[in-house]
Amino acid sequence: MESALTARDRVGVQDFVLLENYTSEAAFIENLRKRFKENLIYTYISSVLVSVNPYKDLEIYTKNHMERYRGVNFYEVSPHIYATSDNSYRSMRTERRDQCILISGESGAGKTEASKKILQYYAVTCPASDQVQTVKDRLLQSNPVLEAFGNAKTLRNDNSSRFGKYMDIQFDFKGAPVGGHIINYLLEKSRVVHQNHGERNFHIFYQLIEGGEEDLLRRLGLERNPQHYQYLVKGNCPKVSSINDRSDWKQVRKALTVIGFSEDEVEELMNIISSVLHLGNMQYGGDDGGSACITSDTQIKYLSRLLGVSGTVLTEALTHRKIIAKGEELMSPLNIEQASAARDALSKAVYGRTFTWLVNKINGSLAYTDESNKNSSVIGLLDIYGFEVFQYNSFEQFCINYCNEKLQQLFIELTLKSEQEEYEAEGITWEPVQYFNNKIICDLVEEKFKGIISILDEECLRPGDASDITFLEKLEDTVGSHPHFVTHKLADTKTRKLMGREEFRLLHYAGDVNYNVNGFLDKNNDLLYRNLKEVMCMSENKILTQCFDREELTDKKRPDTAATQFKSSLAKLMEILMSKEPSYVRCIKPNDSKQAGRFDEVLIRHQVKYLGLMENLRVRRAGFAYRRRYEIFLQRYKSLCPDTWPNWQGKLPEGVSTLVKHLGYKPEEYKMGRSKIFIRFPKTLFATEDALETR
Ligand code: ADP
Ligand code: MG
Repeated sequence: MESALTARDRVGVQDFVLLENYTSEAAFIENLRKRFKENLIYTYISSVLVSVNPYKDLEIYTKNHMERYRGVNFYEVSPHIYATSDNSYRSMRTERRDQCILISGESGAGKTEASKKILQYYAVTCPASDQVQTVKDRLLQSNPVLEAFGNAKTLRNDNSSRFGKYMDIQFDFKGAPVGGHIINYLLEKSRVVHQNHGERNFHIFYQLIEGGEEDLLRRLGLERNPQHYQYLVKGNCPKVSSINDRSDWKQVRKALTVIGFSEDEVEELMNIISSVLHLGNMQYGGDDGGSACITSDTQIKYLSRLLGVSGTVLTEALTHRKIIAKGEELMSPLNIEQASAARDALSKAVYGRTFTWLVNKINGSLAYTDESNKNSSVIGLLDIYGFEVFQYNSFEQFCINYCNEKLQQLFIELTLKSEQEEYEAEGITWEPVQYFNNKIICDLVEEKFKGIISILDEECLRPGDASDITFLEKLEDTVGSHPHFVTHKLADTKTRKLMGREEFRLLHYAGDVNYNVNGFLDKNNDLLYRNLKEVMCMSENKILTQCFDREELTDKKRPDTAATQFKSSLAKLMEILMSKEPSYVRCIKPNDSKQAGRFDEVLIRHQVKYLGLMENLRVRRAGFAYRRRYEIFLQRYKSLCPDTWPNWQGKLPEGVSTLVKHLGYKPEEYKMGRSKIFIRFPKTLFATEDALETR
């Protein structure tokens, strides 16, 4: 039999805290690489699960595997997403405390797959009654629907989630899943009207066109050819080999029914989806004065029918802007460029609001009301975009990276807190850990009055000459001296070379990112002309009447800007997460070519950094590498000491004490807590493990 030591050489350690040289990034990556080679994609950092996307189907998600992890101690089986799932479930059951599982990683790293595996684990292993089966089905079926409307093919991932998602799974007092609730964050609406080369629009458009029944397409006025639609040709990528739009359509149709959509609702929903395509195909021409007019009325005819609005009113709204001067309403004509922008704004608004409506509708079908409201508990799953650094970073990356700063802060606070609490509970002196607190960066972004978001909002509200550039200048004036903020003007010569004049750089906890201010004001304003809003409020489409509320028109208060909305939804998310006991899954993408077996070290090193894994390991290892409950420790090693074998009759701590003294543990190598032994160095434990093997 292979000894424990040579096995460690071959497959590495299954918990990074057992790495001898735990501060070495090279050792960390070497351990990942060894395990990846052996198809061991999961490794712990204590209770954090690190996962490397295998880009191939591994036979590790069968029902048998689920059974193997059910009710078993976290450390007795090899690392697995099911172990994390089961551990959260059991903590929820035994401690009666709400849990959450936070999944992070960059696009394509396997976050969404991980969250699906967790959901499947609960659906299969948790108790159920007949009535619960429908809830389980709906929970599972919510995924294909949300993915159809919220995911798209990107260069990084053929099925990339273009929104952040937090999902609560509710369990009743018997531990059966009885309901759920989803919160969505910041859908990438710009994709509706534009895609980069090699990318697609949201899946649903292609699914409908490829899979929709003949008479449905006829009613919608659609042709069975994605190339025909301006909104679908921007990326020049209508087909994706890993995606079957036609069979996906069938699955989505079925899922919509399971979730409780009536035939009429599906029809209304598809009316909206197809009207977005018609909007994109609208032809504008200019008259002599340069004002835009619509040159063909084909689209308007369809739009008028599909949206249930008057064609004349819609035409006017798409080519004019209503302004109020001296108390009088005037229709001011738009030029072609303005009219196309207004049209795109409408498409984005319609799609974005329909997506939110869809999430609410799913929530309605998952809703569970617990009369006493005492007996149910919750496991939350967070599947949200990881840190993003591209060649060109814009408003979206700014928001996403801000979100990651917030999550990092939460992580540091909660990890340190739980370490400290455990030390206290065990009666062991706490040794303070040095770490970087990124609160200073969060403040830079979100602080009232002088944070970047406030300054951006101020420029968005300021009438007159406000522009992206004046925003940049104002940033320089206000936060220019902040240690985590740099612009071209403020930078030293070396940094200046790496920056454009229209960029500001934030020194994030995970690394430096340059943001180009172009489009910040527009994206933050996210404006839809008033007359287009009015038309939508008149729509007879039942979904749109819920999306466009007439009250919005009379509301004097300006709606919150995009960044401010995001900031408050993040604040709420932090509150939700703070109230729960967290577990973490950190996903890593092994290469940029979606290939199995390729371990790109440079790419992985970046992610280890962005995910803060070394820092995480350092915090966790600052005190003791290893800790186990006395009974578990004694059970495993009692055969190594004649006094504890075959059974120790006295008190547990005394048994462990006798055992480790017999093994020659030195006083500085371990500490005895109330219920656990704490071992400082991995080598102490390895020696004991080896003794067990060679006995
Ligand atoms: P993310 O949500 O992090 O952007 P996904 O979860 O969508 O990434 O994963 C991207 C792709 O990688 C999936 O479509 C799938 O092909 C593959 N993948 C991810 N996780 C696994 C896994 N555990 N086993 C097999 N393939 C996986
Ligand atoms: Mg995803």
